[in-house]
Amino acid sequence: MSARIMLICERLHGDYGVCAATLLTDAQTIADARAYGARLGWYWSPQVRQDLCPTCSGRQPTRGPSVVHLRPEHDGGVQ
Ligand SMILES: [Zn+2]
Repeated sequence: MSARIMLICERLHGDYGVCAATLLTDAQTIADARAYGARLGWYWSPQVRQDLCPTCSGRQPTRGPSVVHLRPEHDGGVQ
């Protein structure tokens, strides 16, 4: 059984509705999920108490692989 936590951006966009961006992670905790999201430009806003996608947060994703593994594939690896 693997935990899956999805970050959901529900920022309101004026009259156009709600942003539907989501980010599925394999994190076990919401803190890990947000750390994962932060690398991709997601931002947890304490002011609105929402997860914001890169577009809504205005942050650029970190350049690099599009998939980031939270856990090393192999035990004893670097890091
Ligand atoms: Zn958004």
